[in-house]
Amino acid sequence: MTDYSNHIGIIGGGVAGLTLGCALLKKDIPAVIFEKMPEEISHGAAISLSSNALRLLDRLDIYSDLKNQSFVHFEASIQGLKKEICTFNSPEVLTTRRQTLMSLLYSRYLNLGGEVLHDHALASFDATKCEATFTNKEKYIFKHLAACDGIRSSIRDTFFADNQDPKYSGYSAWRGIGKSNLQRIYFALGPDSHIVSYPINKQGDVSFVAVKKEDYQFKESWKEEGSSKDLLDDFSIYDSKIFPALEDSMPLYKWGIYTRPPLKSMISKNITLLGDAAHPMVPFLGQGACMAIEDAYSFAMTCKENIANLSDAQQAYDFLRSKRTKKIQRLSMMQGKIYHMKNPLLVVARNTVMKYTNIPGNDLKRIHDYDAHAEMQIYLAYGDIK
Ligand SMILES: Cc1cc2nc3c(=O)[nH]c(=O)nc-3n(C[C@H](O)[C@H](O)[C@H](O)COP(=O)(O)OP(=O)(O)OC[C@H]3O[C@@H](n4cnc5c(N)ncnc54)[C@H](O)[C@@H]3O)c2cc1C
Repeated sequence: MTDYSNHIGIIGGGVAGLTLGCALLKKDIPAVIFEKMPEEISHGAAISLSSNALRLLDRLDIYSDLKNQSFVHFEASIQGLKKEICTFNSPEVLTTRRQTLMSLLYSRYLNLGGEVLHDHALASFDATKCEATFTNKEKYIFKHLAACDGIRSSIRDTFFADNQDPKYSGYSAWRGIGKSNLQRIYFALGPDSHIVSYPINKQGDVSFVAVKKEDYQFKESWKEEGSSKDLLDDFSIYDSKIFPALEDSMPLYKWGIYTRPPLKSMISKNITLLGDAAHPMVPFLGQGACMAIEDAYSFAMTCKENIANLSDAQQAYDFLRSKRTKKIQRLSMMQGKIYHMKNPLLVVARNTVMKYTNIPGNDLKRIHDYDAHAEMQIYLAYGDIK
């Protein structure tokens, strides 16, 4: 059996796990990914990535290929139920198929010499020996464990005392891809709901996420298959032309959006949590995967600097990433409240602020301008100077 005792063992080959694999290998730090799924698959339709994540993907040599297969935006429009509210500028945002992002990360990781062991679902972890046991009975010892196993992280459940179970956020989301001639990011706001649409390439493929605030019981799973009639019924207050033309054959899903309250710390013993395992958030600022990319990149940077003592690497990571991700979790939740306002007076006030000030653009700019590479560099050189 292969000896991985000088490797960082990464549990989960999603956005966080694959980005971490690329970032570690690029710094010549041995790493190996264990993924429970039998092959590379990506759930969800499309994704938007803002410049805070794009500049890191560029450092990992993925950005240019990603850009060629995506749609690039520098502005977005917001509209109410009847008329446009405003158009605002933003730093670069790239929208793409999730599959495109995942395939590029996957092939970059393999090109760097990485290995993904599929069909390996973590069953348990012995932190004293740093030994992981998988459901197929295989066992491996690592130098450190990076838990990138998503919102239902079993490692978080076991090793983080202040952990709470995932909770339905009160929001559900329909996601799909169809054809339309939309050329920009387009938000439509209504009471207790909103719809975001954007092109994901130059061939007329347009993705939408339609979010509704509702008490809803997701039974077997966190997603349920539905029809376009169910979708239109849920969003009957909007003009149905807002949705791209959907292919009849394309399955449509309604997803429950789940979150977990922030942890005091994203590290415990020789375990580091990254991405949704550490800080799942509502998707209203389009930052969940961007945070996973920032986490992964930052952790690899601090590991390189502290390879002889990974607990120092963990401290630096936890200090910078807890601060940043707690703030984005909170702002994402607040964004939902702003989008979904229903009191007519508040709606007028919100629309006026959006129309006559550049507040929406400036708020996003502050989030998108963050440079995780620069932040970690400053921290590693001087400690926290802010
Ligand atoms: C409706 C919606 C829209 C969104 N839109 C955006 C957006 O536009 N932009 C954005 O930045 N973010 C967006 N997000 C958030 C984003 O999808 C997530 O934050 C991101 O996918 C998290 O990546 P991750 O790698 O941490 O977790 P995941 O993608 O969940 O990956 C976890 C991986 O771990 C594997 N795994 C789990 N358990 C085990 C185990 N025991 N053993 C081995 N492997 C295991 C899983 O199979 C999976 O491959 C959106 C989310 C939702 C719900």
